[in-house]
Amino acid sequence: MSESGSRIRSVEVIPVGLRYTHDGPPTGFGGAQWTTLRYALVKVCTDDGLVGWGEAFGYNVLSATVQVIRDTLAPLAVGRDAADIAGLMGSLKHTLHLFGRGGPTQYALGGLDIALWDLAGKRAGTSVAALLGGMRRREIPAYSSLMRMPDPAGVARACEKVLARGFTQVKLHEHTVEAVAAARGAIGEDAELMLDVNCAWTPGEAERIVEQLVPYRLKWVEEPIYPPEDFEALARLRQRVPVPLAAGENLANAWSFKAAIASGALDFLQPSVTKTGGISELRTILTMAEMHGCAVAPHSPYFGPGLLATLQLAAHSPLIGQIESFGVRLETPLFGPVGLPDARGVIHLPDGPGLGADPDPEVIEACRIA
Ligand SMILES: [Mg+2]
Repeated sequence: MSESGSRIRSVEVIPVGLRYTHDGPPTGFGGAQWTTLRYALVKVCTDDGLVGWGEAFGYNVLSATVQVIRDTLAPLAVGRDAADIAGLMGSLKHTLHLFGRGGPTQYALGGLDIALWDLAGKRAGTSVAALLGGMRRREIPAYSSLMRMPDPAGVARACEKVLARGFTQVKLHEHTVEAVAAARGAIGEDAELMLDVNCAWTPGEAERIVEQLVPYRLKWVEEPIYPPEDFEALARLRQRVPVPLAAGENLANAWSFKAAIASGALDFLQPSVTKTGGISELRTILTMAEMHGCAVAPHSPYFGPGLLATLQLAAHSPLIGQIESFGVRLETPLFGPVGLPDARGVIHLPDGPGLGADPDPEVIEACRIA
């Protein structure tokens, strides 16, 4: 039974591609050269005239995510009570589990879940952080997450620009000791430096290379080993080398984090709100992290509702020290200046209810992928 007015009238998916520039030559992830940042906006309307916005992971698999939302998820969600987030999301996850507990099905569920939290905040006239238990801060420190550079000199130049923009923390997507040395040389001893390897190494390679990275005082090494589920190898690495490890953006759901935490390999858990199942799933992961003494460093190279959702979680949880701000500049941001770091590398929570801000309809139309 729907509460008065909170019945879901429609679920619309809008694929967008945001044009951007960065400090190096064209590059990308997952075997593709990127020209835009591509993801799925999820727009949920209820009978009382409210509109909630979510974001589902897309990039190189955007068309698959869009299809799941349009053909599979929307028909199941329309007519249900948007106010019963736990009941609705629990039922949809159970119904759809045989089509993938990770990947596009889970991305789609996450996009819907974020929109439901946005709606819940708008209906209550308060922020998602307040709904989660309280907003403890409105300013979130961010680190600049650089795309891969062609050589160590390019890494050094990009790092200097990051510091000039006000950041005090930078993350590299590089694979070599030389690149890390160049970054540390460019940013000095005080700034924080992280390295994301995107699962490039075997366990043996990881042990040999991470050992050589010790002098550069990395805050964490992220996903050093392929495959990302090999937590036995990650735990061995963590025991042998005194460098904190981070992972989680490729874990499918909260249950996957249970095994990751139990391995003892990870200092930082990195759930991704648009990949791992939305705000509800991240809330579970935050509780698990609290019970096992892990910090949480969310994966959030986003500029849509996924970024705002991550900010709301960070505004609420003391386990989240800093969030990821993708080291690119958008031609036309979806929220104007909202969600972009200031001259100190800090992101301010927007004031509105729910996620805090709605995307600009004109920018959506300009970036919409047919
Ligand atoms: Mg990563």
